[in-house]
Amino acid sequence: MSFIAQRLGYFDSSDFRDAVRKQSQLANPIDLSIGVPEELTPEHIKAAGIRAIQEDKTTYTPANGLPELRQALAHKLQTENGIPCSADSITVVPGLTTGQLLVYLAVLDPGDEVIVFDPYYPPYPHLASMVGAQVVYVSTLPTFQPDIPAIEASITDKTKLIVVNTPNNPSGAVYSEEDLRRIAAIAERHNILVISDEIYEHFVYDGGHFSMGSIYPNTITMNGCSKEHAMTGWRIGYVAGPQEIIDAINELQQYVVMSSSSIAQHAALAALHQKPPEELVKKYKHKRDLVAQSLSALGFDVHGAQGAFYAFVKAPHDMTDVEFVERATSYGLVVVPGRAFSRLHGYIRLSYGADLETVQKGLAVMERISKEFGPVN
Ligand code: PLP
Repeated sequence: MSFIAQRLGYFDSSDFRDAVRKQSQLANPIDLSIGVPEELTPEHIKAAGIRAIQEDKTTYTPANGLPELRQALAHKLQTENGIPCSADSITVVPGLTTGQLLVYLAVLDPGDEVIVFDPYYPPYPHLASMVGAQVVYVSTLPTFQPDIPAIEASITDKTKLIVVNTPNNPSGAVYSEEDLRRIAAIAERHNILVISDEIYEHFVYDGGHFSMGSIYPNTITMNGCSKEHAMTGWRIGYVAGPQEIIDAINELQQYVVMSSSSIAQHAALAALHQKPPEELVKKYKHKRDLVAQSLSALGFDVHGAQGAFYAFVKAPHDMTDVEFVERATSYGLVVVPGRAFSRLHGYIRLSYGADLETVQKGLAVMERISKEFGPVN
């Protein structure tokens, strides 16, 4: 008999693991699989981390994070995102993903329903199931934009939470302010919490980013340093929201986390003092344009891809996602099968977080496969 708890049965990260395993088996992989920006952590951020070590700032911090970091985050959220908040209504967490679990633990009881748009960032449904909540999926196909009537129709008296992620992983969709206002109105009408994952907020190429926390007080805004500041390994995220929820997360943090890394928090403070350069977004827009145009020219229907650094496209010729990924891997290209992000099994996700040359090589493989099989559509 296995010693592993039943709750792990809800958990399946095998598709991701497979992609990573395949990548590690290839001599020179063209890796368009992972959601990591190509940049290295900027020097001034690394220097702040090194300074924190040298100055012995290496003990626990308060469970909710350094006061000066929370102050800087409050300023950022108020001025950049229009979210009313204070240093006390923010908690620093060891990465947004851990924050997601802490929020779920704080607000969900077994049987509560959580609305997740499909396709999704995998932890949204899996962690919800793990804490005993019921996941209600609302498809965003074919455009990857939220289906407002379907969201409203999926609400029951058990609905506790709607999870919103714009710019979106894996589709790259950016939701309009109008749609976000509609979702907020629905949530307000039914007294439902909203989680707004804004980790890609600066990676927007069409339209603009709008924060639901600026209009709906029962929004739990989640963000972090991973993508924008190229700090995926430092593990700093943050959660801002209604005081009673932040207080509950702080209680949990006391036992679960103790505190996020003091060194990484000092580095994050330095990151917040300098906005990412405009050239960064231009560079990603250039890669997005190339990916969208090249895939469209091959006959793929490219929807979404207005932000973040992903394209989510249907595998051609009735291939399953796994079949397409196998074929791509045989030519050295690693992409992730869409089933890791969706209940549908026909899509693949390409990440253009990689550098331009790798993206170009990856697109050449996409072309080679398409040519082998004839026109995509
Ligand atoms: N949220 C989304 C939508 C993501 O795509 C990712 C990473 O791919 C994260 C959160 C991860 O954030 P963190 O590194 O802070 O855990």
